[in-house]
Amino acid sequence: MPRYNRALNTMSIRAMETILRLEPIELYIKKAAVNTAVRLKSNDQWVNRNNPHNKLEDLNIPLIQEILNGDYKVENGPPTLIINKNYKTKINERNQAIINARNDRRTTIYTDGAKNDNNCGVGIYSEQLNINRSISLAEFATVLQCELYAIKTAAKTIITGNPLSLTTIINIYSDSQAAIKSLNSIGTRSRSVLDCWKSLNELGQRHIVNIKWVPGHSDVSGNMLADDLANQALTNQPPSNQNDVYIPKNAIKQAIDNWIERKSQETWNESPGSLMAKTLWGPRNKYKTNKILNFSKNDMRKAVGIYTGHMMLRKHAKRMGLTNNELCRGCNTEEETTEHILMHCPVIRTKRLKAFDKYFIDNIQELKFVEVDIMLRFIKDINFLDAEL
Ligand SMILES: [Zn+2]
Repeated sequence: MPRYNRALNTMSIRAMETILRLEPIELYIKKAAVNTAVRLKSNDQWVNRNNPHNKLEDLNIPLIQEILNGDYKVENGPPTLIINKNYKTKINERNQAIINARNDRRTTIYTDGAKNDNNCGVGIYSEQLNINRSISLAEFATVLQCELYAIKTAAKTIITGNPLSLTTIINIYSDSQAAIKSLNSIGTRSRSVLDCWKSLNELGQRHIVNIKWVPGHSDVSGNMLADDLANQALTNQPPSNQNDVYIPKNAIKQAIDNWIERKSQETWNESPGSLMAKTLWGPRNKYKTNKILNFSKNDMRKAVGIYTGHMMLRKHAKRMGLTNNELCRGCNTEEETTEHILMHCPVIRTKRLKAFDKYFIDNIQELKFVEVDIMLRFIKDINFLDAEL
């Protein structure tokens, strides 16, 4: 066992982390600490960030820092009851919902959210109240957040801008059943739901408020106009006021993952040695790793072995005390090393030609761009490697 430990030194662990895209253990621990900090903060339990125990050293994830500083709030908060409601929600069967919406003669206001790869937007439309609003939101907003933001803003717009006589019946339409159901639940962790609930309750103190479902793209003009307004918002400049939207879980995860990946790459770059692995494998690479992970167990072991220099070759086996002979099983004249096999052994030159288009490799850099599966096929092709050590 002690012999084995010597073989698995730090440098091959770094190479292994890189090839299998594992997180270095120290980053894994840091990630757990960051996640805990964010969770405490989001539950309002993060008390003293100047306490040395709370310090997250050299943590330069801007989004996380802003969350811990209190500049941004996260979407998930402590569980809160939202039992009292001055509004009603209604999700009718599809056809009925369309008919009802088309024939609605009350005060109606249509809301919609939209999202593409780069932008988020909200549309609010009311013919009677003369409301046409198109609002861009931070790009990390979820579709549900956009829909809830639209409903909340509809309520606020009526509260502040449009004097309606007391107890007017107001029908707010949304094509998001998820949003409507969340407003109908008895409790929530979502700050977006909570905000929306508050605004609707405020509106409901003066008026009779209904939140109704209308199927999207069903030729209900109010819904189509709100949809247009939401989509217009997607083409606008990104909003300057990003903290209008709570940071959703996914955005936090993404920020932490990106940071971990960047730090992992730095760790790999800065680790000493592993020249072979650094040349043959290069930087962390999702595409290459996925290829290896799809290999059979045996092939995976072989492939990882090539790149970490821990293929069971005689030179390596001798170091581990498994054999006394370090000469190549093919040519019997030189040490059997990864370099020898990949670059120089004359016995396998035609196999090398087949795999790498060259009989001999002068510089290991020439193999830099060889695909993982070609490399594996080459190694599997050399049958003497399966012979006894
Ligand atoms: Zn040889």
